[in-house]
Amino acid sequence: MGKKMELDSKHNQEQSSAFDPDALRAKYAEERDKRVRPDGNDQYQEVKGEFSYFVQDPYIENEIKRDPIEDEVEVVIVGGGFGGMLAGARLREAGVDDFRIIEKAGDFGGTWYWNRYPGASCDIESYIYFPLLEELNFIPKEKYTNAPETLEYCQLMAKKYKLHERSCMQTEVISAEWDESIGRWIICTDRKDRIKARFIVNSNGPLNRPKLPDITGINDYKGHTFHTSRWDYSYTGGSSAGNLTKLKDKKVAVIGTGATAVQCVPHLGETAEHLYVFQRTPSSIDVRNNTKTDPEWASSLESGWHAKRRNNFESFLAGVYQKEDLVNDGWTELFRNLFSAFRKRRPPKYKIATWAVSSVFSPKLYKLGFESYMREKFLNFVGMDNLMQEMEMADFEKMEQVRARADAVVEDPKTAESLKPYYRQFCKRPCFHDEYLQTFNKPNVTLVNTEGKGIDQITDKGIMFDGKEYEVDCIIFATGFEVGTAYTRRSGYEIYGRDGISLTDKWKDGLSTFHGMHSRGFPNCFFFGPQHSAFTANFTYSLDEQSIHLAYILKTALAKGINLIEASQEAEEGWIETIVEKARLTQDFQEKCTPGYYNNEGHPNVLAQNTFYGGGPIEFFGLMDRWRSDGNLKGLELSNK
Ligand code: NDP
Repeated sequence: MGKKMELDSKHNQEQSSAFDPDALRAKYAEERDKRVRPDGNDQYQEVKGEFSYFVQDPYIENEIKRDPIEDEVEVVIVGGGFGGMLAGARLREAGVDDFRIIEKAGDFGGTWYWNRYPGASCDIESYIYFPLLEELNFIPKEKYTNAPETLEYCQLMAKKYKLHERSCMQTEVISAEWDESIGRWIICTDRKDRIKARFIVNSNGPLNRPKLPDITGINDYKGHTFHTSRWDYSYTGGSSAGNLTKLKDKKVAVIGTGATAVQCVPHLGETAEHLYVFQRTPSSIDVRNNTKTDPEWASSLESGWHAKRRNNFESFLAGVYQKEDLVNDGWTELFRNLFSAFRKRRPPKYKIATWAVSSVFSPKLYKLGFESYMREKFLNFVGMDNLMQEMEMADFEKMEQVRARADAVVEDPKTAESLKPYYRQFCKRPCFHDEYLQTFNKPNVTLVNTEGKGIDQITDKGIMFDGKEYEVDCIIFATGFEVGTAYTRRSGYEIYGRDGISLTDKWKDGLSTFHGMHSRGFPNCFFFGPQHSAFTANFTYSLDEQSIHLAYILKTALAKGINLIEASQEAEEGWIETIVEKARLTQDFQEKCTPGYYNNEGHPNVLAQNTFYGGGPIEFFGLMDRWRSDGNLKGLELSNK
């Protein structure tokens, strides 16, 4: 086996005796094939025109009345979610105060402003999900916080960084156009504002546009209907804590069983006269085990704990070896098990010493960054094939546990079987919940398993599936958000760069950026989001890193009197090559996955240029950090004209 670590075959045998890997592989492929559809993303329709009522804001208490604005600011930030707020916060820290955040909602919060459905909560640990915790000297009340506390935290952030005074709420950007003659962006809004800005930052959120299945009859339905991201409490009664008393005499249908449905279904099941849950693919429902924050632990935290914890969690998910698992939950379990298995089968000390010495003196170390370099070394040492094989085994083991949980919790064996996910844990967004599966034991709750097909039709009275009509008073769409559609369709406004070229046109054959943040032909324009950048489970981490990057660039530019920043042709082409090259690392995994927004609805191969940085977030953040340390804004063309 040469340099490669010898695998303990006994360990493998022990693992494989509990299940049959070949049978599981075949079952996963069979379940996937049932679900892949040629129409991919086109199976969904845009929520506009006759469907606009699905995206109206039900939360605005006082409509703002004001005259149109015609003025100029240094920076316009589009979007007041965590991305826009972090951009504002980091710009303030960098001494750039002349910015304006434009937000269509009634207040800050983004995802958390819109998603107020009963049970809404984050199952990324709140101690790492909330950004700027040390700056705000704040500790959330629980390990997994809920939506109201998250929204309250957004208010604290806004207060600390004085963001309200730099904001423009209930205002939707309709276009952004580069005016070459004055070197400014002209940003127009639905309130007839015309705002000039030297820089524009687009932070629209990756999951901001609700989607509906393209199914006949949605508008024929005569009952009540809404999307989970616009929860209608005037119809259901109750609050995000549940107690939906107005549903006591109502038959309700939920379409979808993703992370959102998993959280609201227990509350619907609690009160509805009858609840039908229409499932296409079951989610993986692992243990959540929420706990109150231990005040002693909170007071023991030392300066720098937050960055360390965030990095530790994301390293686990990216397979970057860590000695200790600080978050220690269902997200990190798979790699925790793997790392500890490898630790137990540690090679002789002299081999470790040789490995460490050769690592430290390698010139590649600086180029790749310490952690990704060590990861590469670790992979070479362990052997990529061995690692992949071990990971698959650990995954089978994990998912067997998840499936066994359905059997243990759900009384009716047929329903339990229907709720079992047959795919690898990270093919779809894993869910963690301690009341969802139990809901299916209630006599007033029915799981309608569509076996990967989805519902057939909506009628004036309810939902049709497999020749049966389910008559209901209310249909709730828990069908998620657009991901793989055109950027400007999701952002809701067009961006016109040099010579009037639109972003839609520029990106029609594939995403084209430098670092995911700049795009040639669109000077002084910055993009936030996971595309061509880091795809993180803990998305606020990525947004924070992008905000730090933005603030660094703007601070440097302004200090040097630079007025114009634009990606060079060469840098952009180089970045596309990197993205395509790195996409290969995840291609095989994605191809074998059941369809979902993680793999472009089962068509990952058409996506190589449009995907995120395949080397993982920790490698990406390291790359950006070293780019900033070099200090010369390499890859950007700069002008002080
Ligand atoms: P998802 O996209 O995850 O789920 C949409 C659901 O609708 C899927 O179950 C999908 O089935 C189903 N669906 C779509 N079309 C049809 C159809 N024609 N018939 C029947 N079912 C259909 O959206 P969510 O809003 O649940 O979650 C979006 C994301 O938001 C999550 O992935 C997560 O990132 C985030 N989130 C995080 C939470 C947390 O921290 N706990 C909570 C909520 C959301 P199929 O799987 O077959 O496509």
